[in-house]
Amino acid sequence: MAARPLTGRRATWSAPGRVNLIGEHTDYNDGLALPFAIPMRTTVHGVAREDTSVRVSSTGRDPIEFGTSATPGTVIGWGAYVAGVVWAMSSAGHRVPGVDLEITSEVPVGAGLSSSAALECAVALTVADIAALALGAEDIVTIARRAENDFVGAPTGALDQTASMFGRTGHLVCFDALTMSCEAVPCEPEGEGLVLLVIDSGVVHRHVGGAYARRRAGCADAAAQLGVPSLRALDVGSLDRHLARLDSRYQPLVRHVVTENERVRRTVEHLRARRLREVGPLLTESHASLRDDFAVSIRELDVAVVAAIDAGALGARLTGGGFGGSVIALVPRERMDDVVQGVQGEYADRGFGTPSFMPVAPSAGAGPTSDPTRR
Ligand code: ADP
Ligand code: MG
Repeated sequence: MAARPLTGRRATWSAPGRVNLIGEHTDYNDGLALPFAIPMRTTVHGVAREDTSVRVSSTGRDPIEFGTSATPGTVIGWGAYVAGVVWAMSSAGHRVPGVDLEITSEVPVGAGLSSSAALECAVALTVADIAALALGAEDIVTIARRAENDFVGAPTGALDQTASMFGRTGHLVCFDALTMSCEAVPCEPEGEGLVLLVIDSGVVHRHVGGAYARRRAGCADAAAQLGVPSLRALDVGSLDRHLARLDSRYQPLVRHVVTENERVRRTVEHLRARRLREVGPLLTESHASLRDDFAVSIRELDVAVVAAIDAGALGARLTGGGFGGSVIALVPRERMDDVVQGVQGEYADRGFGTPSFMPVAPSAGAGPTSDPTRR
């Protein structure tokens, strides 16, 4: 049977960035995380071409072009995220046509809000629609993650893409990397007089760098030394016994991962009981663990956490991989102005850059969007 002509087929899909409320550096240890989709989204409008070129424009960047058979290493820079999706789809056996893609985004780049996953998921959904591929949300997660891991070369877990695809208004996404499953957990801060506030330090993080890869490798080595398939197999009750058997350089890494999984479990319990306020101290404990044990924080993030709490936040932690990016703070609505001013004041006193502030209610995941050229 002849393939249906795709030329001229068009589609527009958008996918959100995400904030991870808690559960950091756990996903590549088969662990638990609790991200949610944020209101800021990346939108991709696509039209099928007659040839096998992919031409991509993104606001504020030079357009790029590559072929549908581009392989890892042949497209670099931001185009790699797009070419990686096309490559991951083709390598999975799907026929991908040439396509023109137009990208617009509200997700800040490099702020720890996962502009990369938003971009990958929106591109994958748009291309899949144009190519009439029957792909489910899990397939899109797999394709997007492969693009980032094997084409861009960033060894991240599937957390970001899962949050972007499975986010739901008024819910967090409890992601279990062991079973690759997720469950919606209700979270409506405004109903409890609270705000989830993102504080962007303005320091752009770097994922592809060696620091992330070293910690990831350290966790894998520690699991091997303990003879378990992954650090998920360890529970907090027997942590000390496990630590005693470990090479000292791995102890802080393992302590972070095991206690962080436990903090995610306790957070879910509080949320199910509609006790969001009680989550505050767990956020702050998570930050201390990331700062002292996992060693992925920087001064700008530490100062934002302390200043936010001093000004009335119930808890705060760095969110995302660390080394820059953002802090997520749980703030009583009436203390919002104090927190903003408190952080701004501390940043000014220390000569840090200008922080930005974004209240982020848990929002909808990826989905089709109206065609921007037909509005
Ligand atoms: P984060 O995902 O936390 O924002 P990453 O370093 O993982 O940070 O991904 C950021 C990179 O993703 C950018 O440097 C750029 O290459 C690419 N990117 C993200 N959004 C866009 C966009 N709208 N247009 C082009 N490239 C983008
Ligand atoms: Mg990213």
